[in-house]
Amino acid sequence: MKKKIAILGSTGSIGTQALDVVRSHREMFDVCLLTANSNASLLASQAGEFNAGAVVIGNREMYGELSSLLGPTGTAVYAGNEVIPELLSDNGEIDTVIAAMTGFSGLMPTLAALKAGKTVAIANKETLVAAGAIVMETARTHNASIIPVDSEHSAIFQVLQGEHSPIGKILLTASGGPFLRIPASEMAAAGVHDALNHPKWKMGRKVTIDSATLMNKGFEVIEAGWLFDVPVKDIEVVIHPQSIIHSMVAFMDGSVLAQMSVPDMRIPIQYALTYPERMPSGIPQIDFCSLGGFTFASPDTEKFPCLSIAYEAAAKGGNIPCAMNAADEIAVEAFLQGRITLCDIPGIIADTIAKCTFIQDPDIDGIISTDSECRRTAESIIGD
Ligand code: MG
Repeated sequence: MKKKIAILGSTGSIGTQALDVVRSHREMFDVCLLTANSNASLLASQAGEFNAGAVVIGNREMYGELSSLLGPTGTAVYAGNEVIPELLSDNGEIDTVIAAMTGFSGLMPTLAALKAGKTVAIANKETLVAAGAIVMETARTHNASIIPVDSEHSAIFQVLQGEHSPIGKILLTASGGPFLRIPASEMAAAGVHDALNHPKWKMGRKVTIDSATLMNKGFEVIEAGWLFDVPVKDIEVVIHPQSIIHSMVAFMDGSVLAQMSVPDMRIPIQYALTYPERMPSGIPQIDFCSLGGFTFASPDTEKFPCLSIAYEAAAKGGNIPCAMNAADEIAVEAFLQGRITLCDIPGIIADTIAKCTFIQDPDIDGIISTDSECRRTAESIIGD
């Protein structure tokens, strides 16, 4: 039986690599649904190649182009992301949804997939940052599985297979990003090009900027807390520039288990799709003897305040991580547009959190209103 999959965000970095995995195991997967924000030409060619049942283009202005590119094929064409939840809940065929959209926009489709009892391979960490309690509760209520795609969380998930003892501590590894060895004073002058130049991972623009500020690692701490039910005080970030160990779990007896591979996202993506089986990936094994060495260090939280902001936001709980996420999305966009410097990002996030109306136990409406309120707040801080 082929696994029937939907890829939300199929033209992005994770989406295209997920389709690489599907391409090398055509006998295992049927592509039912692909969605993209605005890249109509790539979405059309993906739909043609994989004979997708349906496609959604988020940007309505691209609907005409997408329809004409697809022509009279068997692929149904929709416009507007609001239709995704309905398509997921109406399609009883889909088994697995790869949630690879960027940012808060991934939340409602992910919740819809979980409510429909689908397995969600989650790459959209912002969903868990903004609404972790709701997402995990929805999965429990509807008996839906969440399988991590993020390399660190896949590593933790893999080392926990067959493990019966509780996690003592999670050691979340971080490459350190492009500014690991650049003095803080020079970071302020870094341009968009420098910040997008990640040393180890080829990723989308948003996550690459988040990696440069270590906000991404802060998000991942919160993501790991939800996925593995571990308090964030028991999650330690370890800088490991070689990016071979993708994370580790320490147990009460002093044992530490690690998962390793060359840094290639197709490994965790494929594991999420073939779990609990492993399949050949065509990706070379680590050549340990040519590696030279592994190094580890504590993160510099003065140089990278976003990491501390994330720990504090997680400790405050409620809607504060959602506020942090909203402010970060606005700040990263402003940086990419050249309106602020990289070093302005943490201050904008901290100020937005300080102005956010606290909700202890937000429902989905509380999360949505916090997101819009904090986007406006962050915009006004940047505009000042
Ligand atoms: Mg990661």
